[in-house]
Amino acid sequence: MDFDVVVIGGGPAGYPAAIRAAQNGLTVACVDGWKNRDGSYAMGGTCLNAGCIPSKALLESSELYHRAQAEFAVHGIKAAGVSMDIAAMQKRRATIVKTMTGGIGMLLKAAGVKSFAGHGKLLPGRKVEVTGADGAVQTLQAKHVVLASGSTPFELPSLPFDRTNILDSWDALEMDAVPKRLCVIGAGVIGLELGSVWRRLGAEVVVLEAMDKFLAVADGQVASEAARHFKKQGLDIRLGAKVTGATPGADGVTVHYTDAKGEQTLVADKVVVAVGRRPFTTGLLADGTGVTIDARGFINVDENCATGVENVWAVGDCVRGPMLAHKGKDEGVAVADRIAGRHAHINYDLVPSVIYTAPEIAWVGKTEEAVKAAGIEYKLGVFPFLASGRARAMEASAGFVKLIADKASDQILGVHIVGPMAGELIGEACVAMEFKASCEDLQRTMHAHPTLSEALHEAALAADKRAIDNVNR
Ligand code: FAD
Ligand code: NAD
Repeated sequence: MDFDVVVIGGGPAGYPAAIRAAQNGLTVACVDGWKNRDGSYAMGGTCLNAGCIPSKALLESSELYHRAQAEFAVHGIKAAGVSMDIAAMQKRRATIVKTMTGGIGMLLKAAGVKSFAGHGKLLPGRKVEVTGADGAVQTLQAKHVVLASGSTPFELPSLPFDRTNILDSWDALEMDAVPKRLCVIGAGVIGLELGSVWRRLGAEVVVLEAMDKFLAVADGQVASEAARHFKKQGLDIRLGAKVTGATPGADGVTVHYTDAKGEQTLVADKVVVAVGRRPFTTGLLADGTGVTIDARGFINVDENCATGVENVWAVGDCVRGPMLAHKGKDEGVAVADRIAGRHAHINYDLVPSVIYTAPEIAWVGKTEEAVKAAGIEYKLGVFPFLASGRARAMEASAGFVKLIADKASDQILGVHIVGPMAGELIGEACVAMEFKASCEDLQRTMHAHPTLSEALHEAALAADKRAIDNVNR
């Protein structure tokens, strides 16, 4: 079978590439080999099956459970006897995943993309060998190939996954009971999100983080504020903790680690290892394709996602850059447009980050530390949600919006939010910064009252000591 474009991988990088290529009038196939625990194939990759979507489903359910127990009373709502039905919670998660992954299949079909369930391997000459579940092999010939094979969790050699005691993030999303004692290794995005889920549902959660600094990727002020709230919620985050091994026993798993005080142990019922992900390219490339892989396992590409082999492209988690669904999606779409001879552009300086904890954390652009290190003269505007009427009404006034702008040009360089709906609020900052907005542009834009978005407006005003709803410092 001949196609203009064959995409290997049906995750958030691959399936948008396939859809956009079809929208561009090309004949397209999308090969995906994701298999669920029951052996069934499903489109959508890590994001829909074992990542973004199921984690957000559980974050929502667990947050509602927590609020019903701890916060309804403040609203004057008596909710005695609130209890949890973990089976129903997990059923809801699974139903959302099934509906969404089925939806991808429908979107591909509607766009005219031919889907193949099975393993895809790139052969020289832009041929793609597809091996189905029954072992049957067929070969597709493509004018262009897009590699979108994604990523997989890092496994610590001292703590190999066993799917019973030592879990990866996928297992951790599908637990059917709340462990009494949960140890999470890695206080990164997954550690914080999944640690929050199980903490809210009642587990005692200890998070062991190798680095001495908490959430080093985020703006320091945001990380400190978030750490304060996580501590209050009972997340026991231990920094500078280097895990050396684990031994399962009758009373649970004993985790061994070293910190500034020396050798330590803790006993947990389940251990979740969330120490990052690595690109997944197993069995993807036959000998002689010419596609190269770097020392960390990423497929080498240029700024346009071209691999250097004529008409072979790679996008998403399997190439350099942040491992985020929206980054992969934009790369997939951009490549499909480039293949069709259209203009495409990705601004890698403006990839938003969101951590869906409570309070939520979101940022785009440079941190204060990065601006300082670059020697840029800057001004800061900070607006606390305590001063936001909407946040108060929501009983969600923890956190703040912090805006950093260039002192000379007034251009916004970074926006950092810790607080309610931070992940939604950051969208406005992304648009503003994509259009190279100045602080004044935001100041002169009317924001509806009472909304959380006023906090961004006020942060822009605060950068010039012109905040109305807060004392200017
Ligand atoms: P993947 O989603 O990994 O998809 C790759 C697909 O290709 C898979 O289906 C795989 O089976 C298939 N494949 C691989 N090799 C082959 C082959 N040879 N033949 C056929 N098929 C193949 N990101 C966010 O932006 N927001 C979030 O909230 C978020 N939450 C997350 C929560 C968790 C718990 C995890 C684990 C990740 C989360 N991520 C989140 C990260 C996000 O899931 C990834 O960045 C995203 O899925 C990457 O998309 P991708 O298409 O590059 O790869
Ligand atoms: P991460 O890189 O965010 O965090 C891993 C953490 O583990 C780091 O803090 C690291 O210092 C620590 N670590 C590494 N080795 C360790 C060790 N031996 N002992 C203790 N700590 C150790 O990775 P992750 O949380 O696994 O997430 C993987 C990817 O998935 C990330 O790239 C992330 O962007 C993506 N993701 C995104 C979201 C989101 O956008 N909301 C949610 C989940 C995952």
